[in-house]
Amino acid sequence: MAEIKILTKNIDVPDQDRIDVYMCGGGYEAARKVLNEYMPEAVIEEVKKSGLRGRGGAGFPAGMKWSFVPKESKLPKYLCCNADEGEPGTFKDRLLMEKDPHLLVEGIIITCFAIGIHTAFIYIRGEYVKEAEILQRAVDEAYQKGFLGNVIFGKNFNLDVIVHRGAGAYICGEETGLIESLEGKRGEPRLKPPFPAIVGAFQGPTVVNNVETLCNIPHIMEKGGEWYGAIGPERNTGTRLFAVSGHVNRPGIFELTLDVTARELIYDYAGGISGGRKLKAVVPGGSSSPCLRADEIDVQMSFDALMKVGSMAGSGAVIVMDETVCIPKIALRSLEFYAHESCGQCTPCREGVPWMMKIARRIVNGEGEKGDVDLMLEICENILGRTLCPLGDAAAMPTKGYLTKFREEFEEHIRMKKCKVQSA
Ligand code: SF4
Repeated sequence: MAEIKILTKNIDVPDQDRIDVYMCGGGYEAARKVLNEYMPEAVIEEVKKSGLRGRGGAGFPAGMKWSFVPKESKLPKYLCCNADEGEPGTFKDRLLMEKDPHLLVEGIIITCFAIGIHTAFIYIRGEYVKEAEILQRAVDEAYQKGFLGNVIFGKNFNLDVIVHRGAGAYICGEETGLIESLEGKRGEPRLKPPFPAIVGAFQGPTVVNNVETLCNIPHIMEKGGEWYGAIGPERNTGTRLFAVSGHVNRPGIFELTLDVTARELIYDYAGGISGGRKLKAVVPGGSSSPCLRADEIDVQMSFDALMKVGSMAGSGAVIVMDETVCIPKIALRSLEFYAHESCGQCTPCREGVPWMMKIARRIVNGEGEKGDVDLMLEICENILGRTLCPLGDAAAMPTKGYLTKFREEFEEHIRMKKCKVQSA
């Protein structure tokens, strides 16, 4: 029962990004129904019933997040759709925005109605130029049809949606970094609490939801929270888009229920390892998730199951590595990325990540020293849980995973002063 098409069921319909085609397939009917037949609290209850968890990385229950926003607020409330998709390996929101942008707009309308929001931003990463244009056209079309603006669907409900392009910083995918950037400042994460639900954009209560999360909302409201909640394993309901890349025969995006195992995903859906080579490691949830070794891939790709084995479902980006991959090199590349993207506000991240990067680099270059692995592990421990935002953990967790699961490969580099894997 792993393969169910909910989010991607219309992806291949020609011109699905145009509003008339979207409406021919029943588009905007869920929003019309919700605005005319539901009280806002009932929408939140329905989403809670569905068990939908955020698809951006943290997996926090969406309905619960919405319920943290105060009903009454002196300041305007905001919805920020997180379309930053900066986690390396992740490319599934791009598909939704490109192929079915009205699904996102409809999800935004329903969400805003449920929370009493009248301004929503779609914060899209700067590199997604084409997607930003497609989204802007979808928003314009929705205004022309009267689905955005004043008196939507004949109801006394107003909503403006603004497509806002970021400048391409990883840290702007973190919700408070995103909010700072939206306000025109440097994308530096804020100290929490207060959480955005209380003090967010422009000081007003703010919900930040990922693209895929919001795209689920019209389907949940069309068919009901119970229907959605019955799909997939308990507490890990619905489907998600797995973006599979790396050494597989059929890389791509697969919409599957969360009881699919990493093995099934790689071998049954992504066609197995290319060139008949052996699997070495899999990153199951974007570059910040600790890797799985080849003997650990019978784990379900759910939030809870991956957490239990010390990794995480993250953004649903699955990076597959075959036996030709040098793990110290992968660790170095990941650290280079995080060191570059650190905003520099807190010492463990600002100093610790580049320090680990330098050690990893000397190991890769055949200049590693005895004790380097333990030193890196010690630095990891001094970063984990000690930073303002999750970027510190995002750098330390996968590094710790590579070091512990492939310790011998690091030690061998240090002993032999070269890479055995890539010089074979
Ligand atoms: Fe900035 Fe890193 Fe601290 Fe996050 S963890 S606030 S990116 S220095």
